[in-house]
Amino acid sequence: MGVRLAEGMVLLHDISITNSNGIIVSTKKRKIFLDPKKPPDSGLSFVSHAHLDHIRSSFYGKRVIASDETVRLARERGFNINNYSEQDEDIETFDAGHILGSRAILIENSIFYTGDFALRPRAFLESGKAAKCDVLIMETTFGSPEYIFPPVGRVFEQTNRLIAEMFAKGVPVVLMGYPLGKSQILSYYFSFWDPVYVYESVAKMNNVHTELGVSVGTNFKNYEEAKERGLLNRKPWVLLSPLMSGRSKFVKELKEKYGAVLVAFSGWACRPGYKNAMSVDYAFPVSDHCDFSELYQLVKQCSPKKVITVHGQNSVFAAFLQKQGYDAQPSSALHASMTDFIHED
Ligand SMILES: [Zn+2]
Repeated sequence: MGVRLAEGMVLLHDISITNSNGIIVSTKKRKIFLDPKKPPDSGLSFVSHAHLDHIRSSFYGKRVIASDETVRLARERGFNINNYSEQDEDIETFDAGHILGSRAILIENSIFYTGDFALRPRAFLESGKAAKCDVLIMETTFGSPEYIFPPVGRVFEQTNRLIAEMFAKGVPVVLMGYPLGKSQILSYYFSFWDPVYVYESVAKMNNVHTELGVSVGTNFKNYEEAKERGLLNRKPWVLLSPLMSGRSKFVKELKEKYGAVLVAFSGWACRPGYKNAMSVDYAFPVSDHCDFSELYQLVKQCSPKKVITVHGQNSVFAAFLQKQGYDAQPSSALHASMTDFIHED
């Protein structure tokens, strides 16, 4: 294209962020849709991981870049990806450290899209791997300074102390996290309590992990079966449940009928009002995303010339990066189509 922007920089890529179908990157070689809401008619799609805000439909026959684990987890959630590969010409994927199978993508050694990303290792997940790039398109879910997460080990030590305290009084404990991702981390760290009951949607995702060779602990018992057999009246116990409000019918019943204590795990727990808003007894900040300082660490590792922030606190984080001297822009400030640049030399 060759429109000169600044000394030594030349327009080579088009990056557009559309409301209809996510982020679209066009290069001389290809058009690639990053976590598209629906399969595009033509071009390549990248599905970063199997969370439902990143995969919303099946991709019958359409060309997709995704990991084996993402494809397997997506299938379990009702979405079919049958024409996929992990790599393509001039396309490399990196472990994003967010959930099993999550990937970031480096396009033509220049544009790095993180998908959802975590830098700190947790249970069976390793730290996400950053790539040097010209343009960094990064998630900024927790891109505001109030989101600094404590060490995972410290939070789970506190949780174990809480469970021990409750067990001594015969009180059941409900540990709540998203069914895919957080719940497997909780399964991994708390499976040694006895008995541990598991809600169906969590068990389903645990089983896929086991099938893929990832141990998330053993000795889990089916919650529904235990309920039917009246085993829940034999207290205490631990239940691994999807994250729900304490006001929801299911959780309310656990509290009223069995006197269970409700514990929520979420990055949003950094917010002072979170515990009350969720109507839970305890809320711990554990996340499958980077916190604010890790997001900045990620930027430094990538040493980009341009940053585009997407999701969550994208405006706050872009403003912070600008103060640090980066050329940064929130996706929300992009026009329907934006042309980006890289160094020619
Ligand atoms: Zn996610």
